[in-house]
Amino acid sequence: MTFAVHGLPVARGVAIGRAVIVASSRVDVAHYFIEPHQVESEVMRVRTARNAVVEEIQRLQEDMPRDAPPELTALLDVHLMLLQDKEMENGVKHWVSERLYNAEWALTTQLEVIARQFDEMEDEYLRERKADLEQVVERILRHMKGAALPVVATPRRRTQQDLLLDDTVDVPLVLIAHDLSPADMLQFKQSVFAGFVTDVGGKTSHTAIVARSMDIPAVVGARLASQLVRQDDWVIIDGDAGVVIVDPSAIILAEYGFKQRQGEVERERLSRLRHTPAVTLDGQHVELLANIEMPDDATAAVKAGAQGVGLFRSEFLFMGRSGNLPGEEEQYQAYRRAVEGMQGLPVTIRTVDVGADKPLDRALKEEAHLNPALGLRAIRWSLADPAMFLDQLRAILRAAAHGPVHMLIPMLAHGVEIRQTIALIEQARADLKARGIAFGDVKLGAMIEIPAAALTLKLFLKYFDFLSVGTNDLIQYTLAIDRADESVAHLYDPLHPAVLRLLADTIAECNAQGKGVSVCGEMAGDIALTRLLLGLGLRSFSMHPAQILAVKQEVLRADTSRLAGWAQQVLHAEEPSLMLTE
Ligand code: PEP
Ligand code: MG
Repeated sequence: MTFAVHGLPVARGVAIGRAVIVASSRVDVAHYFIEPHQVESEVMRVRTARNAVVEEIQRLQEDMPRDAPPELTALLDVHLMLLQDKEMENGVKHWVSERLYNAEWALTTQLEVIARQFDEMEDEYLRERKADLEQVVERILRHMKGAALPVVATPRRRTQQDLLLDDTVDVPLVLIAHDLSPADMLQFKQSVFAGFVTDVGGKTSHTAIVARSMDIPAVVGARLASQLVRQDDWVIIDGDAGVVIVDPSAIILAEYGFKQRQGEVERERLSRLRHTPAVTLDGQHVELLANIEMPDDATAAVKAGAQGVGLFRSEFLFMGRSGNLPGEEEQYQAYRRAVEGMQGLPVTIRTVDVGADKPLDRALKEEAHLNPALGLRAIRWSLADPAMFLDQLRAILRAAAHGPVHMLIPMLAHGVEIRQTIALIEQARADLKARGIAFGDVKLGAMIEIPAAALTLKLFLKYFDFLSVGTNDLIQYTLAIDRADESVAHLYDPLHPAVLRLLADTIAECNAQGKGVSVCGEMAGDIALTRLLLGLGLRSFSMHPAQILAVKQEVLRADTSRLAGWAQQVLHAEEPSLMLTE
């Protein structure tokens, strides 16, 4: 039966495929397709690991002291029973041979299928056996990790174009999860999935931001999606409307298939603008920059016609490493790769911004503080550990020897933070000089993301060469709305008069003083807001590479001499959003 789940649209387009439900705890399992001739060996990998776990448990049983609690013996019996369960074995075989999933993926998929059945059981004792099943699968996975991969198992990725809808093997897959951390999302960046849905998350949560950077349809904040959708269900993700349609009828499928093809035609049309300079009808040059998460994203940025990187979120180098942070050399190599990848175009490297909805690790998230967005985040985190911060500062300065680099500091609010940061940059330069290591000049910028910063612009302009408005956080902190919380997403409003006032003043003050100013929050990539930002005097926009051409199209159609007066009216309106839809 067809039904729809509503969430928040985060990445444009339509994806049609079968659902792959991934439990949050299992997203770190590799997901790739195998070749048909690898089916046997892949099934064998699971079987060998399972047999090893069986032996392990049998050994435990043999060595069990006589006075061991009876519950323990019973528990081991249950684990043995689950390990030998035919449904598990047959299910794994099915996913490997029918769908060509790699062994780990097949195992966790079948785990999800059986776990669902446990959830639906009336009997509480049986329901609780789900935890045992998870433990057993965890043990098998651990054994598989230890065992070498068969030599033939070269992962093959398929593009969506390779896939045919009516073929049970070669269908596109969409990922449905309760929650994915930004680091998890990054892991899926090169994956086989054609779309994403998560139960939680706001429109500008970092999970949504990474989804957008992948340029595939995604919906977040879909509440119960991961419970309502079953493994393997046919699903349509409408990333424009924020709707997930489950088990669609033939008519709905045809309709969305049409919409999908229209989207492809539109992309094709936009791609012709790649080499067109971004100049408005009245001759204003507009800088369109890229936001990136990893050094290798520079390729996509250049391909999309970006004039530089306006925001390299360096924290993605720090996440998902079990607290083992990258040192100066590793960071230097990464920044250098980004700089070289941009082929002489400037790269704005933002110093690390972890905390809030970007925990370093899943484990650290669990011990999160009460109010993480207001806690030790971004520059506060860096200043709390000067040795770590100095590593990063030196790495950025060294990368600047290979091409134009700007350094951007997140979440500043206090004069003392500004002065401490500048002192540490000086120290980093002095260290490198003393060590005789080459480094380059950098332009220094501050992010305006806290209302306190937007209200003390003179202080910022005294110390910094340029400002970059992080509207995602500026909105969050101005309106006291957690950007990652879907339950207050309806109040997260980029067009709130207070937000517009802070933004307009920042742009105007920088323009008046001849200092560079850009917007690097999600507002910059939203084509519904391009004209307004141009009207407010903005001439530098930084966004996901995938958004650049659509924004360029808006720029080419705009006349800033006409937009300036209108933008002032919007700024003074009681409901600015109504003026944008007129
Ligand atoms: C912002 O806050 O707008 C921004 C660009 O930084 P981030 O989204 O990484 O917090
Ligand atoms: Mg921010």
